[in-house]
Amino acid sequence: MIVTKQKPIEEIVKSLEGENNIFLVGCSVCADECQTGGETATKELIEKLKTSGKNVTGFAVINAPCHVLLTKKDLKVHKEAIDKSDAILITACGACAQSVSEIIEKPVRPASNTLFLGNIERHGHFHEHCSMCGECVISFTDGICPITNCAKGLLNGPCGGMNKGKCEISTEERPVDCAWVLIYERLKKFNHLEKFKNIQPAKNYSKHIKPDRLILERKK
Ligand code: SF4
Ligand code: SF4
Repeated sequence: MIVTKQKPIEEIVKSLEGENNIFLVGCSVCADECQTGGETATKELIEKLKTSGKNVTGFAVINAPCHVLLTKKDLKVHKEAIDKSDAILITACGACAQSVSEIIEKPVRPASNTLFLGNIERHGHFHEHCSMCGECVISFTDGICPITNCAKGLLNGPCGGMNKGKCEISTEERPVDCAWVLIYERLKKFNHLEKFKNIQPAKNYSKHIKPDRLILERKK
């Protein structure tokens, strides 16, 4: 899921300078899980905006605003309120914000910062494990991504900064295991330590060109 964090209210209000009538669009999937843009978070934000002197024309919490077609359909019923608005405030990720800006001819303002593609370890705990590099290499590590879990994204490790199994960026407040020690332990567990000796060639990052796109062939 896409992990987001709400911007400070002062920053949100500043981004709406000169725009008094605001319509909010939230997301009931990822943003809800991150408490940034589900119904509860959106309503809380509406109260803060009102306290800051803004007029809220309405809101819609959509089931994944990143789905452009469905969002277009869901926002149709709010046309009157949207037409009366000076700006649209998005309480979801940057992709959802741009999905809405494709559909509505109004300035779009993000209420959140989009952080990473995360796994939910438990409620409210999100961990990054994949950087969407375009060519997955975790078969040679038996399932741990070195691109994301190693602070340097090394394909051959560990580096000289590893200390007692911890990464050199590790601190007492934020301990970080060395990804390459984890990979070693994992390969050892499956009796695949010979893979550790294979030197991986430089990764071809051009496999992921931004902005990326994927168009599936229709199945007959
Ligand atoms: S190698 Fe890592 S960053 Fe690339 S796709 Fe696989 S898990 Fe994601
Ligand atoms: S200590 Fe380990 S995880 Fe940290 S940068 Fe070096 S190889 Fe990567």
